[in-house]
Amino acid sequence: MTRILEQPTLVLNRNWQPVHAATVARALVLLWNQSARVVDPDDYQTYTWEDWAKLRPLAGEPFIQAVTMRLRVPEVVTLTEYDRLPSAVVTFNRRNIFKRDRFTCQYCGIQPGSEQLTLDHVKPRAQGGESRWDNCVLACLECNSRKADRTPEQAGMRLKHKPVRPKWNPLYALRDVRIESWSKFVSEAYWNVALEV
Ligand SMILES: [Zn+2]
Repeated sequence: MTRILEQPTLVLNRNWQPVHAATVARALVLLWNQSARVVDPDDYQTYTWEDWAKLRPLAGEPFIQAVTMRLRVPEVVTLTEYDRLPSAVVTFNRRNIFKRDRFTCQYCGIQPGSEQLTLDHVKPRAQGGESRWDNCVLACLECNSRKADRTPEQAGMRLKHKPVRPKWNPLYALRDVRIESWSKFVSEAYWNVALEV
């Protein structure tokens, strides 16, 4: 049950353009408070919470066991008011740095797991290095302590890649979790085209 609620639902804006993925739990809340409708990917029919709650899960289909009923799991919802597109700028945050650097230490190349990776300021903060895409990389604990408050040159270490702001569309991340039915709304070309905002 919990795992189903944490699965992704594709969220479209009012014009049926993909905006992001939300958890099934979040999608149901949006549905319940009438901010969204479920889209049936087969016939593009839309359902309000009331309509959706009346449907029974098909045999073999995942479902949510609520107190008094079984709910079908929405794979795609469309927002009733929101018509904007997400910003094309990739947010500078820990999660996206991990993604950009592929959970890999940028000095020695190991992938020890997120617990064992730290954010390293290439030019140390102590020397005026800023927290920016082009100055922050992942480093394993060992490389991090070896480098300490020095630049790579000062520490005799080399970066595998020069850090840059990722170019990917924020929606690109959805590729990892894409569900069959999403392909109708999210074309391959869509992923590769730069968003106009
Ligand atoms: Zn390392």
